[in-house]
Amino acid sequence: MRPYLQANIAPKRSFQWKRPAASPLTIHNLADHGRRLKPHRLRRMVQFGFLAACLWIGWCFIRYYESLTPAGRHVDPRPPGVEAFLPISALMSARLWLQTGAIQPVHPAGLLILGAILAASFFFKRSFCSWICPIGLLSENLADIGRKITGRNLVLPRWADWPLRSIKYLLLGFFVWVIFGRMDLNDLRGFLESPFNQTADIRLWLFFRHPSTTTIVVLAVLAGLSIFIRHFWCRYLCPYGALAALVGLAGPVRIRREIPSCIDCGKCARACPASLPVNRLVSVHSDECSLCLECVESCPVPAALGVNLAPARRRVWPLLVALGVVGIFLFAIAYGKISGHWQSSVTRQEMMEQIQLALPSQ
Ligand code: SF4
Ligand code: SF4
Repeated sequence: MRPYLQANIAPKRSFQWKRPAASPLTIHNLADHGRRLKPHRLRRMVQFGFLAACLWIGWCFIRYYESLTPAGRHVDPRPPGVEAFLPISALMSARLWLQTGAIQPVHPAGLLILGAILAASFFFKRSFCSWICPIGLLSENLADIGRKITGRNLVLPRWADWPLRSIKYLLLGFFVWVIFGRMDLNDLRGFLESPFNQTADIRLWLFFRHPSTTTIVVLAVLAGLSIFIRHFWCRYLCPYGALAALVGLAGPVRIRREIPSCIDCGKCARACPASLPVNRLVSVHSDECSLCLECVESCPVPAALGVNLAPARRRVWPLLVALGVVGIFLFAIAYGKISGHWQSSVTRQEMMEQIQLALPSQ
């Protein structure tokens, strides 16, 4: 923990607040139990759900790729969800959609998934990082390993933390500048319809299937840093995290501390993985808050800390955050399927030809 946090944690008052005993679950108090569901457990359930979905998509995609090769014996369909891993193509599609209203048909699911991430970020801050992203889950677990080894995670001093945090915004700014500032419509269409973009998912798979020595070293360094510095990749380098953080700042939801109920124990600040001084704030309005709700879970007084809808100052249950985040993604998928903007327009035959032309050595 940072020294200034320790210095500002008020001493405990002489009384201890006691949580009331839980009543048994009945049909009448179902809503009460929903309100009391542990945020951490809820978040883990959502995270592992998305991880399972990603692994399933990955497995289906590998089968699809194998089926395109001469050795393939089955006709496996392509899972459109794989387009979640093509963020630059999705950003280009977003610019095309904003300018023309057309959804480009090569990777339409990628655009809808990007839209879902932006919507989740607006309504639930940077929840993409702490509730959905498998890299975020991996990062949390690496940091937990680090804490078990050394007893704590390293918190960088402010003079190093701030410049490093700006790297992800610079990377995002670069992509936005190129796509929105430097490319015209012809450039965009040219790239989106190019064989390179059509086979981008297969190129990505082959990149990780046959990693170069440089790739292995870079991944190992990032994993090593994430063990000792919590969320190293997410906090300092990820442009997707930067986008979610900026959109989240404009949203209506905040962590809010009710000063009359707060007993100044400082547990919320100690639990915050983003090292935010929650115990000294009334409302958490930081780009680093990922609405992970660890502070809410750690607070011994349920009325003192919670998620609030800013204009109405209404308390939002953790269960609603979970349902909201999952619901936005399910809505995007359902909309894509119903409107016909989910499956890629590239046919199986075209993809086989592209692979032979563009990737002759595979
Ligand atoms: S303030 Fe609370 S919700 Fe936000 S990152 Fe810190 S612990 Fe998570
Ligand atoms: S908000 Fe809760 S955890 Fe934070 S200082 Fe107050 S009582 Fe303690």
